[in-house]
Amino acid sequence: MSCTMLRWLLRGGCRPLVGLWALLLPVVSSHGLQQDALTEGRPKLLLVSFDGFRWDYVDRVPMPNFFSIMNDGVMVKQVENIYITKTFPNHYTLVTGLYAETHGIVANEMFDPVLNRSFSIETETMYDPQWWEEAVPLWVSIQKAGGRSGAAMWPGSDVKIRGVFPNQFLRYNASVPFETRVERIIQWFSAPKEEAVDFGVLYWEDPDKSGHLLGPQSLLMDAVIAGIDEKLGFLMNELKKAGIYEKVNLIVTSDHGMVQLSPDHIIELDEYVSRDLYTWVDKSPVVGILPKEGKLDEVYSKLVDANPNMMVYKKESIPAHFHYQHNSRIMPILLEAKEGWTIMQNRSGTFLLGNHGNDNTLPSMHPVFIARGPAFRQNYVKSFMRSVDLYPLMCHILSIPALPNNGSLSNVKDLLLREPTPTVPSARLRVKDNSYAPLVGSLMGVAMVLGFLVVFIKQVTLKQLPSLKHRRREMSQPLLQDLHL
Ligand code: AMP
Ligand code: ZN
Ligand code: ZN
Repeated sequence: MSCTMLRWLLRGGCRPLVGLWALLLPVVSSHGLQQDALTEGRPKLLLVSFDGFRWDYVDRVPMPNFFSIMNDGVMVKQVENIYITKTFPNHYTLVTGLYAETHGIVANEMFDPVLNRSFSIETETMYDPQWWEEAVPLWVSIQKAGGRSGAAMWPGSDVKIRGVFPNQFLRYNASVPFETRVERIIQWFSAPKEEAVDFGVLYWEDPDKSGHLLGPQSLLMDAVIAGIDEKLGFLMNELKKAGIYEKVNLIVTSDHGMVQLSPDHIIELDEYVSRDLYTWVDKSPVVGILPKEGKLDEVYSKLVDANPNMMVYKKESIPAHFHYQHNSRIMPILLEAKEGWTIMQNRSGTFLLGNHGNDNTLPSMHPVFIARGPAFRQNYVKSFMRSVDLYPLMCHILSIPALPNNGSLSNVKDLLLREPTPTVPSARLRVKDNSYAPLVGSLMGVAMVLGFLVVFIKQVTLKQLPSLKHRRREMSQPLLQDLHL
C-alpha cells in the first residue's frame, strides 16, 4: 500500500469503504450465506385475538401490559368491524380483508341453499373446506409466497383451505390453556431459520365467554379483563425470554365488542309467526329466516311491524353499508334486534346476559386494537380504522402482495414507522426462487469497485496538485480578495 493511500485512509477517507464493503459482502460471500441473511431479515408478525374484547375495556381496570404496548407502539380507538359482528365472520375478515358477503363465512351458523348443506361452529360441518374457499386467508398466501405460518386455534386455521393447512397449527380445543397456545407459538417463531414461521395467529376465548355469561356491565368482568392483561403480559414475557420481542410485530385485537342484555328485553317470534312457516338460521341478535316454499311474503308481512325493537329486512333491502347481501348464504329475511334486545322463539331457549352481532357501526360492537414492533410507530393514537384495512396492512408488513380486498393500506399507513413505497417487494420471501439476485448483486459490486477507483484516483491526483487547486480557488473569490486588501 502506498504512503499516500495509507495517509488518506487514516484521515478518514476509508469511510466510504465501509459502506462499499457492506454492499459487496453478499457478492463475495457464498450463495448460502446470502440466503441465510435474507431469511434472517424476514419480517415477522403475530396477530392475537382476545375474543370479544371491547375497545373500552382497557379503561376499566389497570392494564399495565396493554398500556405498555400502546406507549411503545400504536393504538386505534374505534375499529369498525364487519357485519354481522359475530366471531367467525369477523375472524375471517381479519385474515382476508373481505366483508362477509365476499368471504362467505356470513355467520356462525349457516345454510347454503346451493350446496344444500348447513354449517355450525359447534359441529364437524365447519371443517368442510367448501365453506371457506370463497376467500384465501393470509396464512395460505404466505405459504404460497414461500413463507411459513403457524396458527393456535384461529377460526378456520384448522380447515384445509385451498388444499393448504398452516405449516404449524393446533386443532381447535377450547380446553387447551392460553399458556400452552403461547408456548407453541413461541416454538414456531423461534425454530431454526428455515422452519421458523413468519406469520402467527393466536386466539383466546375470553373475555367473550365471560361477557356472554356475566354481561359486560357485571363487576365480575373487571377481574376477567385484568386477567386478559395478565395473559398479554405472559405472552410478552415469553417473547422476551425467547429473544424475539423486538423482532416480532405484535398486533393485539379482537373480533367484536359486547352489549348488556336484559330478560325484560326479549322478543318472542312465536307471538308473531308460526314456526311451520320458516326455518330459523343462526342466533340472536341477528337471525336468518328461511321461509318455507311460497311463504316469503306471508312471513315478512307478519314480522315487518311486529316489534319496534326488531328490524326486519328482506334480503334485497338490507342497508348497503352492511355489505351483507350478495351471498346465497344470506337468508331471504334478516332480523336484527336493537342494541340490548334478544330475539328468541320463546323464553325456553338459552338467555345470555351479554351478546354481540348487531350493527357494526355501534361503538358497543367495536373491538380493541393495539400494535407494536419494528414496523410500527411509537406512542401513536389513531382515532378510527376499519377492520378490513388490517389485511393490506399485514400483507405490507410481511412483504407479500395483497389479494383483492375491501380494505386499503392508505387508510392505515400512518400506523407505520416508514411510509410504504408503491412497489411491494413480493420477491422477498421467495429466497429460494430468487435466481437473479446473485447476478444483480455481482454487477452492482463491479460498478461500485469501478466507482471507488475513479474517486480514489481523483483524490490522489488532486492532492498532488495543491498549487493548481489554490490558484483556482483564488480566481473564483475575487470579492473576498478585494475586502482583504
Ligand atoms: P360467538 O361468541 O358465538 O360469536 O362465538 C364464540 C365461540 O366460538 C367461542 O366461545 C368458541 O366456543 C367458538 N370457537 C372459537 N374458535 C373456534 C374454532 N376455531 N373452532 C370452533 N369453535 C370455535
Ligand atoms: Zn367472538
Ligand atoms: Zn361471543
